[in-house]
Amino acid sequence: MKTAIFSTRPYDKSMLSDANREAGHDLRFLEDRLTPSTVALAAGCAAVCVFVNDAVDAEVLALLARQGTRLVATRSTGYNHIDVPAAERLGIAVVRVTDYSPHSVAEFAVGLLLAVNRKIARASARTRDGNFDLHGLMGFDLHGKTVGVIGTGKIGTIFARIMTGFGCTVVGHDRYPSPAFEALGGRYATIDELLDCSDVVSLHCPLTEETRHIVNAASLARAKRGGILVNTSRGGLVDTEAAIAALKTGQLGGLAIDVYEQEASLFFQDLSSTIITDDVIQRLVSFPNVIVTGHQAFFTVEAIGQIMRTTIESLTAFEQGRELVNLVRE
Ligand code: NAD
Repeated sequence: MKTAIFSTRPYDKSMLSDANREAGHDLRFLEDRLTPSTVALAAGCAAVCVFVNDAVDAEVLALLARQGTRLVATRSTGYNHIDVPAAERLGIAVVRVTDYSPHSVAEFAVGLLLAVNRKIARASARTRDGNFDLHGLMGFDLHGKTVGVIGTGKIGTIFARIMTGFGCTVVGHDRYPSPAFEALGGRYATIDELLDCSDVVSLHCPLTEETRHIVNAASLARAKRGGILVNTSRGGLVDTEAAIAALKTGQLGGLAIDVYEQEASLFFQDLSSTIITDDVIQRLVSFPNVIVTGHQAFFTVEAIGQIMRTTIESLTAFEQGRELVNLVRE
């Protein structure tokens, strides 16, 4: 099946081509993001394959439908970048990758927490410069601390399990309690109770209208003073300006983010030779107690291999008129 692959990076091309060896779909690799002005690149393609920063809104979907596209396959779990009701109205099916190494993201969240708490990136930068001073590098033991997990689905529960291995108490907040989380000794709480008692808060819920800015000025004010916030889920969960204000006063003791609300125009590209005009991200990276990575939590051999295999399986199932097991429904 003719498929346009938007936001292609070299690893997409090589690993998707490998996964496609037997299926033999006609893949058109495009480096561009999918926007109203690039949609024409998918002309004649029954399917388009997108990633998290492709804005698959109603306008783009209408243009795709007019060109004959009938399937949008996102190489991600989250689908907040796709207007699913609009796709349904236009008769375009949307598929995602529901299951790919949740360990990749959970392990990265732990890595970010350790890095920001123990100042590992700062220390490494110092030693490269011949500076072995410990001033400013003090962290706190995770052992014995309370970790709040907002969203105890696949990733949140694995994250919680790792934290219990550190000797932490885990407290969860979710609309649907998970027996696996409770089996770890985790207890559920309201979001306010979770904020009251957590030394670390890690976000693992999807971005929805309900969860947008779930971390805001009020919740940051309520949180334990000096606590750490980790976000590997979606940038829109955090009101970044409020986080900056809380960092300035010391109310927020550390921030580790792999996702950022305005990441679409920044992430997945090398901007090191350009002037970055986003003052918010520039302010964030200037704090000694902030770590920002460019949406790489999913980026392991296991996860990418599974994403590509599932994507090709979805294309094949669609072409053959079989049930789409990863269909997104609203
Ligand atoms: P999941 O569906 O297994 O778990 C999400 C959990 O969030 C569910 O238990 C759900 O009930 C809960 N939830 C929904 N609304 C909530 C609310 N209002 N308050 C509290 N909890 C709520 O999903 P997952 O596989 O664990 O992935 C979680 C998120 O991680 C994804 O939505 C995606 O945004 C993000 N993610 C990020 C990366 C990355 O590379 N940084 C990679 C994959 C996924």
